[in-house]
Amino acid sequence: MDISEIQVDGYERVARCRDPRSGLHALIAIHDTTLGPALGGMRMLPYASEDEALFDVLRLAKGMTYKSAVADTGLGGGKSVILGDTTKKSPELFKAMGRFVDSFGGRYITAEDMNIGVSDLEIVRTQTRWVSGLSRESGGSGNPSPYTAWGCLQGTRAVLREVWGSDDFKGKRILLQGVGAVGGRMAELFKERGAHVIICDINAARVQELQKKHGFEAVADEGHESVPCDVYAPCARGATLNDETIPKLRCKAVAGCANNQLREPRHADVLRERGILYAPDYVINAGGIINVGMELAPGGYDEAKAMGKIDRIHDQLAKVFELARQHDINTREAAEHLAEMRLKRAREQQAQKR
Ligand code: NAD
Repeated sequence: MDISEIQVDGYERVARCRDPRSGLHALIAIHDTTLGPALGGMRMLPYASEDEALFDVLRLAKGMTYKSAVADTGLGGGKSVILGDTTKKSPELFKAMGRFVDSFGGRYITAEDMNIGVSDLEIVRTQTRWVSGLSRESGGSGNPSPYTAWGCLQGTRAVLREVWGSDDFKGKRILLQGVGAVGGRMAELFKERGAHVIICDINAARVQELQKKHGFEAVADEGHESVPCDVYAPCARGATLNDETIPKLRCKAVAGCANNQLREPRHADVLRERGILYAPDYVINAGGIINVGMELAPGGYDEAKAMGKIDRIHDQLAKVFELARQHDINTREAAEHLAEMRLKRAREQQAQKR
């Protein structure tokens, strides 16, 4: 196994692993550990080149620093990528990856991400203890989706308060695109609180199932952006807020669990110009990472403590909205500002202790 360093400005450590025996070719990037060890998922993709994989891992690792800083998890930001054909997974590959993760001595802690499942992580775990998000049976915190949904509920409360002055869901029309593990649960939580829930999904069977169970209104996925509602919750995939969709929106706020909702950063301004409040995705969808992060707390995972922290997504988002108002900036910029303020404060405190 050959581990080599890649120097990247602004990153604490970036390394490459090549292991001819298992065929592993992987990168791990640690962006920042000021607030704690770098937690971030492992993804596997058939990247066209190492440069493309490097671009992805750097971008994602930095994103994790900001996400964890705003969520106040006491964690830093990192990420790992395996370059390879996802149909050619093998135990040897994940054992080698485990040794690569272990070589960071706990400064990088891995978790699930795209094309990586709990069964893959169980193999990684045989070589390193720095794995999070395993099943409850294996001592982990289990499936993060219900926690992400609960965090989105808390975040949506902050959105309602900001726009309507009260977090009362009664009579609010909430439109969800994507009612999978997270969106489906969000829809239930909103309905329980008296909201009028409208759903769409490309999976017709899933829509029917939820309609039958909860009586949600359903609309076609195509053109759903134009459906009048109070809150629009993108919960399916990324880049759905863009030049084509934003002009069609007929809502007062966008608040959903999907990652990377803005096609480009400037789309936060486009939403603002239309008078639509945007809840930055990585702030509102942090429930999963907060839950996983609790595995690293002294004494181990504690669901009640995790829920207490997830509830605070309401306060974190309220802070973001307040900063946006104070500085006359969009909410994406305000979230970054909040993360940077927390990192700066922690760096200053650490410098004083030295
Ligand atoms: P999921 O796969 O369980 O659900 C996604 C749903 O979206 C599915 O029902 C699917 O049919 C639907 N969908 C996919 N493409 C669509 C399209 N083009 N139009 C309409 N519907 C479409 O995934 P999930 O775990 O619920 O995650 C949803 C989003 O939230 C993803 O962007 C994910 O990255 C993000 N997220 C999830 C978590 C988590 O804890 N699971 C945490 C943070 C962020």
